[in-house]
Amino acid sequence: MMQELIEQAADIITGSRVTLALTGAGISVESGIPDFRSAAGLWSKYDPAEYATISAFRANPQKVWEMLWEMDEVVSQARPNNAHLAMGELETMGFLHCIITQNIDNLHQAGGSRNVIEYHGNSSTLSCLWCGKRYKAEEKRDENPPRCECQNVLKPDVIFFGEAIPEEAMRRSFELASSAEALLVVGTSAVVSPVNTIPSIAKGNSAKIIEINKERTHLTDSLTDIFFQGSAGEIMPQIVEAIKKKKAPLP
Ligand code: NAD
Repeated sequence: MMQELIEQAADIITGSRVTLALTGAGISVESGIPDFRSAAGLWSKYDPAEYATISAFRANPQKVWEMLWEMDEVVSQARPNNAHLAMGELETMGFLHCIITQNIDNLHQAGGSRNVIEYHGNSSTLSCLWCGKRYKAEEKRDENPPRCECQNVLKPDVIFFGEAIPEEAMRRSFELASSAEALLVVGTSAVVSPVNTIPSIAKGNSAKIIEINKERTHLTDSLTDIFFQGSAGEIMPQIVEAIKKKKAPLP
C-alpha cells in the first residue's frame, strides 16, 4: 500500500511540468528544531502569540530577544535532514522547480536547494528598523538586545505575526502556484495565512497535491490527492528513490 502510494507520487512528479513544494516547521523537526505544535521545547516555554508578534517586539525587544537568542542557538547548530537533502536532490534532477518555505532556518539551502522562496524571511541576518543597516546574526550574539551602530535595536529578518509578507515573495509564490501541476506540502499545519492559500491556488490550476505530515490537517480531506502520514525524513527520500528508478536508463 505504502509502496503503491510512493509510486503514484513519483508518477505525478515525473509527469508534471511545474512542481513546487510548500514546507513548514515539521520538515525541520528531525533536524532538532521544534515546531509550534510539539508539546515540548521552545514554544511551550515561549507562547508564539506573546513572543512572535511585531507589537510584542516593539513593546519589549529585550524580552523577545531572549527567546530569539535561545532559538538562534538551536537553529544555528541544526543541520539539514534527509527530507531537506532529498528535496535538494529532486531540484538537481530537474523535478522540483521551487520551494516555498515558511521556515526561517536556512536548512533548505544547506541541503542543496537553490530555488527557495523564504516566505517568512531568514533568521541569519538582522536589520535596523531605523536606518536599514543589516548585520549577520553571528556578529551580534553577545548583545541583548543587539543594537545597530546608530544605537537602535535590531530585528531579525523574519516576519513576525502582524507584519506584511515581502511583496516579491508573495507575488512570485502566487504566480508559481497558479502554474503548478504538482505541489508537495510537507510538515505544515497550513493554518498561517496568507501562505496557506498556496494549495488552493495550485488546485485552481488542477495541480495534484501530495501531502506529507505526521498527522492529518485540514487539507488532508479537502485538497490533498495523496496523503503520507509519517515523517518527512523517511518519506521524501523514498519518493526520490522511486523517481530515480523510473528515470534509470533501460539496460
Ligand atoms: P506548525 O508547527 O503549525 O505545523 C507543523 C506540522 O508539521 C504539524 O502539522 C506536524 O504534525 C508536522 N510535523 C511535525 N514533525 C514532522 C515530521 N518529522 N515530518 C512531517 N511532518 C511533521 O508549523 P507551520 O505550519 O510551519 O507554521 C508555523 C509557523 O512558525 C510558520 O510560520 C513557521 O515559519 C514558523 N516556525 C518556523 C520554524 C523553523 O524555521 N524551523 C520552527 C517553528 C516555527
